[in-house]
Amino acid sequence: MNISFAGCGFMGIYHVGVAACLKTYAPFILENKIAGASAGTMAAAALVGGVPLPDMVRECVQLACLASEKILGPFNPNFNISNSIRDGLRRVLPDDIHILATTRLYISMTRLADGTNWIVSDFDSKDDVINAILGSSFIPLFSGLFPPKFRDVTVVDGGYSDNVPTFLGTTITVSPFHGNQDICPEDDSEMAHLLGFKLPTGPDTNITLSAENMERLGKSMIPPKIEDMIVLCKQGYQDAFRFLRSRNIIQCENCRTQKINAGYKKIEEWRKLSNESCTLCQALPQSIHSVELPNDLLDVFNEELEEERKRAGRVSFKVAKEDLNEADHNIENATPNTNSAEASTSEIEPTSIDSNIKEVPIPSNSQQEVAPPIASDNINENTHKEVAPKEDASHDDIDHPVCKPDTNDPNENDSKSKIDTTVKAANKITEAIVVVKGTLCKLGLFALNEGYPFLSLALMCFLIFKALRSR
Ligand SMILES: [Zn+2]
Repeated sequence: MNISFAGCGFMGIYHVGVAACLKTYAPFILENKIAGASAGTMAAAALVGGVPLPDMVRECVQLACLASEKILGPFNPNFNISNSIRDGLRRVLPDDIHILATTRLYISMTRLADGTNWIVSDFDSKDDVINAILGSSFIPLFSGLFPPKFRDVTVVDGGYSDNVPTFLGTTITVSPFHGNQDICPEDDSEMAHLLGFKLPTGPDTNITLSAENMERLGKSMIPPKIEDMIVLCKQGYQDAFRFLRSRNIIQCENCRTQKINAGYKKIEEWRKLSNESCTLCQALPQSIHSVELPNDLLDVFNEELEEERKRAGRVSFKVAKEDLNEADHNIENATPNTNSAEASTSEIEPTSIDSNIKEVPIPSNSQQEVAPPIASDNINENTHKEVAPKEDASHDDIDHPVCKPDTNDPNENDSKSKIDTTVKAANKITEAIVVVKGTLCKLGLFALNEGYPFLSLALMCFLIFKALRSR
């Protein structure tokens, strides 16, 4: 009994949800060979390396936050997603991952020269495992312009040739796209099923060309919000639960412990027989929708949400402070120049801004009223340097009281709302551009996979042309 995780871009958190359910209700499934392509290889490697699931959740969330911080998200020329993935893997994978992974971890990648599939299952070092994962998840233009080399062979994303590698014998396949995989979402799109439109994702697997899947394909290229990641993770947990329940494997902790102590390793041995009666088993959730994520995963999501709120508080404060500086500057220009030396200094010396602001009378309780929801001393406890704002943000926290006088100024509020509206509009446009580019990129991959290299080339050239023009 082996398992394979499909490539799925930023939807990899779905795999963590699946793994959480399997670890609880059918841990034997994760003890054998684990395969993957693209984002699926990261989940596979983490499971082989025994990385705790909360750490996997944290890495997924922080990567998505890091990518979404940039303008154009992961398509920002200054953002290298491969480097961020490499840093994350170096952090979480154990040093002996290459020993654990040899003959257990199977990574699907595609040779660029001839488009053939290459499954790697023997590794020399931790960096060798990480390089294989990066090769397996390299999408041209999305990950960078030049594909990496693995053992002197130029490789690209495993999804080009086999997005869900399978083993001889039984393989449980996992994908966040609805299709013929064992664990995948259920879609209501009857029309797609009736017409039978399928998109091959490997020799043995396909996904349905439904509206839901098209939406998922577009989203897989966009870093999701933390709230959406919780939904996706829960979806994975519930889909795995449905799969195990359909095999009569869902049972209470007592019954599971008995199976583990008996050394059972097969689905047949774990299957609950109809004549077995256990009141604890009967008390387990009957409806898939009442199945919830484990608390340790939810705790990580909540911690990351809290961190995000802190960052959002700092960003909005920064905007307010810039407005204040601008207003000060305008006042200085409009007022008769009674203190020209000081005014001219404030234009060229940023530190003098604070000294000007401090002259404004501030109520003693103003800090609590205007500070972001999190106390500033907690901010120093932020241990997630990857997604933390720049160091100078901490100085902003100290200066929170200066915001207070502005909040009562209608002109200031107007300018803030204008800025907010502009930022929202810009975000919408950026999101639309990323969706279009992501969809075109995916179409290029599918065209190549389906044997239309010229169509694929045309799409890629179009994307490169647009990228160059926008610069
Ligand atoms: Zn039981």
